[in-house]
Amino acid sequence: MASTTEESDCAREQTKAEQDVDQVRQRATRDQQRLDSGAVSSSKDLENLQREIVSLAKRQGDLEDVVLEVMERRESAQERVAELTERVGAVQGKIDDATARREAAYETLDGEGATVTKERAVIAGSVPEDLLKLYDKLRAQQGGVGAARLYQRRCEGCRLELNITEVNEVKAAAPDAVLRCENCRRILVRTSESGL
Ligand SMILES: [Zn+2]
Repeated sequence: MASTTEESDCAREQTKAEQDVDQVRQRATRDQQRLDSGAVSSSKDLENLQREIVSLAKRQGDLEDVVLEVMERRESAQERVAELTERVGAVQGKIDDATARREAAYETLDGEGATVTKERAVIAGSVPEDLLKLYDKLRAQQGGVGAARLYQRRCEGCRLELNITEVNEVKAAAPDAVLRCENCRRILVRTSESGL
């Protein structure tokens, strides 16, 4: 992420700034050694050397300020990296949790699906072949619903109420007769709540 890049940029910058400080310090040390050795005798050279030592000290101070400034920036970049890493971790935790719940839900649904399929097979086995054929045909034609409950004189497949003639026909029909909705043609299933 961007903060990680920023952090490594700062680290590189810090190394470079520290090398700059080192170079200046080494040069100042060399100058000081020359000065102390007494090898330089001309007063002009001595003056130059002393001036250079003063200017190197100032230069070193400036460069050390740069190092401090880079270190501060690096530290706040590290803090941001830590903060963002924590947030990524929290979000990942939520994703993992949701994924686990989804997997569990799939498993439940698969189990229910298997149970329902088995139950359907048992029921279908007990239905006469021609009736099952009619049901399957209607189911394909009527959006997956081949039979509908007759509830309070209403076909629950198409939601239309049966007229009085139809109600009378249903009442007169034998208990095992296959009834059809006059409107949607679905098989009508009678129950105690059919309103007859
Ligand atoms: Zn109907």
